Amino acid sequence: MPFLDLPPWILSLFLAPFGLMLGSFCNVLIHRLPQEAPEDRNVVTKASHCPSCKAKIKPWHNVPLFGWLWLRGKCAACGWRIPVRYPLVELLGGLILGSAHWVFPFGTLIWLKAVICAYALLVLFFTDFTEMILPDVLQFPLMALGVLFALPQLARPETLMKAWGSGDTLIQALAFHNGLQPAPAYHGFEPTVTWQASLLGLAIGYGAPALLNLIYKAIRKTDGLGMGDFKMLAWLGAFWGWGPMLGILFLGAGLGAAVGVPLMLFRRSGGQTMLPFGCFLALATPVVVFFGRALWLGYLGVVG
Ligand SMILES: [Zn+2]
Repeated sequence: MPFLDLPPWILSLFLAPFGLMLGSFCNVLIHRLPQEAPEDRNVVTKASHCPSCKAKIKPWHNVPLFGWLWLRGKCAACGWRIPVRYPLVELLGGLILGSAHWVFPFGTLIWLKAVICAYALLVLFFTDFTEMILPDVLQFPLMALGVLFALPQLARPETLMKAWGSGDTLIQALAFHNGLQPAPAYHGFEPTVTWQASLLGLAIGYGAPALLNLIYKAIRKTDGLGMGDFKMLAWLGAFWGWGPMLGILFLGAGLGAAVGVPLMLFRRSGGQTMLPFGCFLALATPVVVFFGRALWLGYLGVVG
């Protein structure tokens, strides 16, 4: 690993600006992917413009985070108040790339996988939050990508992985070259995401909520989950394996109930309030990826 010997904070300083730029691109995706007209969904060649007055945004006003601060949160042309979401997404984008290598060894496939997953969740959280849409154009490629990430282990089944853990301890483990799910900064290596676990995750991720929906429909006579939610669970399953995916589903459902039930009682709308379930799945994912096994073992300890 070429950069492994650099102090992590130097790497952070180097990577964070690129993360801010990726965050800025996430804003473009969040704004344009849910649009109705195909030409409005162009996220590649169309220049940035103010969503309110359509004025082109000057490059120096488009600098992530600092542009927003410089303009004090208002469009330079029309004074439209730029939602806090824009600098927030840019900031989170900077944090993702600037901090991922503190948890996942820099430059490894697991690092790349975690970074891609984090940016995907960032975009999907906000498209679901603002428009209740989880775009297929992101989720189908993510399903394929999740399985692809598990494939290198077919060619190079096992390798000795080394990483620095907390307190200058060198963690060594025989592990799959990829699929490996280490979080050395937390608690050593996690079990591998094998290609079988990835494919099962994809299949169960799509199938389990479909089953839940059947039960929900029998009781409430409406769909509890949208198709976008199934697809999100499918690619999360392909990324992290079927076990963590089920953890994400249950934790997400728990979070959804914790927010949804009081909301339902408060509004007295009789259960027709649609909640953006994708947002809860997005929040549940890092918890399960980082602490899933510890939580699970704790749970077994309580039960057993
Ligand atoms: Zn404007």
